[in-house]
Amino acid sequence: MTSIDILMPRPMLPIVQEQLDAAFTVHRLYEADNPEALLAEIGGKIRGVAMAFGPVNAELLAKIPNAEIVSSFGVGYDHVNTDDCLAAKVMVTHTPDVLTEEVADTAVGLMIMTIREFGQAEQWLRRGNWESKGPYKLTGATMQGRTLGIFGLGRIGKAIAKRAEAFGMKIHYHGRSKQDDVSYPYHATPKALAAACDTLMVVAPGGAETKHAVNAEVLEALGPDGIVINIGRGTVIDEAALIAALENGTIYGAGLDVFENEPHVPEALLKLPKVTVLPHVGSASQATRNAMGQLVVDNLKSWFETGEAITPVPEMR
Ligand code: NDP
Repeated sequence: MTSIDILMPRPMLPIVQEQLDAAFTVHRLYEADNPEALLAEIGGKIRGVAMAFGPVNAELLAKIPNAEIVSSFGVGYDHVNTDDCLAAKVMVTHTPDVLTEEVADTAVGLMIMTIREFGQAEQWLRRGNWESKGPYKLTGATMQGRTLGIFGLGRIGKAIAKRAEAFGMKIHYHGRSKQDDVSYPYHATPKALAAACDTLMVVAPGGAETKHAVNAEVLEALGPDGIVINIGRGTVIDEAALIAALENGTIYGAGLDVFENEPHVPEALLKLPKVTVLPHVGSASQATRNAMGQLVVDNLKSWFETGEAITPVPEMR
């Protein structure tokens, strides 16, 4: 298969690079002194793209007119314009399932860290305050008796729900539609979900449809004991409204793995005492990232060997 040319716009994991090098001719855009010139030279030969971040849109696709497939690393693919890919007859794949349990673990860890202030308590110890000033203060919030509202009860949302049930939490959810095989109470809007719970877990995809779905009104409905956890995408929450709600005491606290403009995190968020932040590490263990990388490779190989993708995004099915 060495005659098949693959474009790699940015570096990928060694497990991906080694296997793609063995099976295809890989063109690494990020190594070129002039990426645009390289693309102009080789664009016509490219039949597949292996990538972790976008954007993939009509502009890029026009430069690789013979591309057949974009194999994207990660389950979220809001960086890929699927309408443009459908118009250009380009298959898009992603890496669902293999990261579900890892991300659910991270979500629950982040929720507990936020509610019980473990990050802040650890800093208290590391700075020598325990010895010099005494114990860390009692936390104003507890995991006990909380109701979890899951915004996006999909693969990861359900894995979070399973864990949260074991902690004794009551579960509610919101999505575009009610799921018949789920017994948790359904809410048709994010605001109704927020009103019914005190802990809002955002695990919905990014993109235009969900942009700022968690806004000032939703945060108001969550109320002063409310805690927001975002493990989905930064764009789902209006970050400015979140900062205002935290500053004004409209809600109690927030735990965030994702942000609107990564890797930038607003200074105002970092200054807030009841906020726990993580640098988008939801799936970031070696084992899980390798499994995701393997699926990027397997999708490309399957496409060029059999004409079928293993894990096409829903729009392509
Ligand atoms: P799924 O597709 O299985 O679940 C997504 C859920 O979101 C579905 O239940 C869907 O329900 C709901 N949803 C989708 N669109 C909307 C909408 N417009 N309004 C309301 N609800 C909506 O995906 P996964 O569970 O596998 O992954 C979820 C997301 O988690 C990913 O898209 C990604 O952005 C994020 N993620 C973050 C990671 C991190 O490192 N922090 C790692 C991995 C994933 P319905 O169809 O009924 O609307």
